[in-house]
Amino acid sequence: MTDSYRYRCGECGHRTAWGSESHGERAIEAHYGRSHPRVVPGGMAEFRKKDSGGGVGCLIALGIVVLLLVLASRH
Ligand SMILES: [Zn+2]
Repeated sequence: MTDSYRYRCGECGHRTAWGSESHGERAIEAHYGRSHPRVVPGGMAEFRKKDSGGGVGCLIALGIVVLLLVLASRH
């Protein structure tokens, strides 16, 4: 599945579109660059699980602080 991830901004609640994990990371990083240039990127990663019998299925918020974005922004 390539459209199961999205990221939620920790500052304003902005959510990226569903997409691949790497796509979501770029999207939220770009959002921080535009909207919160002085804030260290962070927030929530959400993973959408598709059940075989439940259509869209449930949504699991992993609650991961996106530390990778911090590292990526400092190169
Ligand atoms: Zn934001």
